[in-house]
Amino acid sequence: MSTPTLHSALLIDGQLVGGEGVAEAILNPASGEVLCSVAEASLEQLEVAVQAAHRAFPSWSRTTPAQRSTALLAIADAIDGLTEQLAALESLNCGKPLHLARQDDIPASSDVFRFFAGAVRCQQGQLAGEYVPGHTSMVRRDPVGVVASIAPWNYPLMMAAWKIAPALAAGNTLIFKPSEHTPLSILALAPALRDILPPGVLNIVCGGGESVGSQLVSHPRVRMVSLTGDIVTGQKILQNAARTLKRTHLELGGKAPVIVCNDADLDAVIQGIRTHGYYNAGQDCTAACRIYAQAGIHDRLVAELGDAVSSIRFARKKDADNEIGPLISARQRDRVASFVERALGQPHIERVTGAAVHSGPGFYYQPTLLAGCRQSDEIVQREVFGPVVTVTRFDQLSQALDWANDSEYGLASSVWTQNLDKAMQLAGRLQYGCTWINTHFMLASEMPHGGLKRSGYGKDLSSDSLQDYSVVRHIMARHGQQLD
Ligand code: NAD
Repeated sequence: MSTPTLHSALLIDGQLVGGEGVAEAILNPASGEVLCSVAEASLEQLEVAVQAAHRAFPSWSRTTPAQRSTALLAIADAIDGLTEQLAALESLNCGKPLHLARQDDIPASSDVFRFFAGAVRCQQGQLAGEYVPGHTSMVRRDPVGVVASIAPWNYPLMMAAWKIAPALAAGNTLIFKPSEHTPLSILALAPALRDILPPGVLNIVCGGGESVGSQLVSHPRVRMVSLTGDIVTGQKILQNAARTLKRTHLELGGKAPVIVCNDADLDAVIQGIRTHGYYNAGQDCTAACRIYAQAGIHDRLVAELGDAVSSIRFARKKDADNEIGPLISARQRDRVASFVERALGQPHIERVTGAAVHSGPGFYYQPTLLAGCRQSDEIVQREVFGPVVTVTRFDQLSQALDWANDSEYGLASSVWTQNLDKAMQLAGRLQYGCTWINTHFMLASEMPHGGLKRSGYGKDLSSDSLQDYSVVRHIMARHGQQLD
């Protein structure tokens, strides 16, 4: 991989400017080395960004869907044109295998812009009509105003796309803040964004959550806050946003249950969990991490999955040989290790494979499978956000369903069976924003993604997301009933 250019300039009011706040070291988690430093936005720069977005709102909100669509298509083309550079940056800054960043993250990001470019031109709504005699009512969907969007580190460019595309398509102006750990891909796209969009429509500011993030949330000119992040961060943002009564859109954590019935296709299950339980080193809010295996298939599943997981390739010299990368930071790796350590302190939990920090450079943790886990165990209840999957045995489907739903999380789930009746009954009763049948983790830009319970509310992707970034308004015209 040739070293890509590392951009550190923020995008504020159509200008690329260096941050004037505290400098944050940006690391390569595959080696632990410092790549560069990015200075966060100062309070003054944040103020300029918010005021620029506020000033840009009246004209951007009055552009036609076709004009906004054209801009979004240009952004999609810019992402595709920068594929090699953006993939290299995602790989350097997150430790992702380069071939996977190139194959998955970058095309998925440009596709989101293309989807919203189309969706905004074919929205549907209620019928206009005379609900009061002599008066015609119609419903409009208008943008909310200035939106502050705050993203996590697990898929930096893709999360930026999920947040920026629907908000811009709906006619809002934005201040986007990437995670302080992973700003490099969106900063590399910033020059193209500056050239495509009018000044102030999209501002990109970097910085920490407590410093820059919370300032954005409390700013009175910001009308809506959209967060993808941890539940605790969501709670802080809600408290902060309550003071100025902002709209909020929260995509928080997950702990996806995976119900495997006796009649499941075991090979497909093993392949599915090996891939979707460990993809991105398990740093995925939908990761297939909480398996409930029926008694008749349980022992074979544990044995075969253990073999499959121990074959996952990582930390190899040649990029193409790697299937997963490291954790994002030493802190995250140590957090994962401490979850596993506490779990193995329970006499009933068995280590099938993994359960150790990888010796060598970088923040790697071995892909880990734990069996014998019980519903009340911390490792079953809490999001680990690492390459750790648990297996719990069950007898009756009703038991598995109760356990699957007995969670504070409600983002994603899956059911594995060859019996359609069972699959549909379980899918209908699972309290999760998404249920996959005989697969896991598959997303489509056309389909809504988002949680229930403490996984948050609001939808990313799909035309439902356009609704979330807009407000319904009623317009009524009095015109009487007599023509002459
Ligand atoms: P995080 O909550 O630590 O940080 C997310 C963002 O919030 C960062 O940009 C951070 O700077 C900012 N932030 C932190 N404190 C803030 C505050 N007080 N005010 C304003 N902003 C603040 O999350 P993370 O560690 O970056 O990401 C991991 C979490 O994200 C996991 O819990 C994961 O499940 C969740 N996630 C959810 C989805 C989803 O679609 N539901 C997708 C990806 C990640």
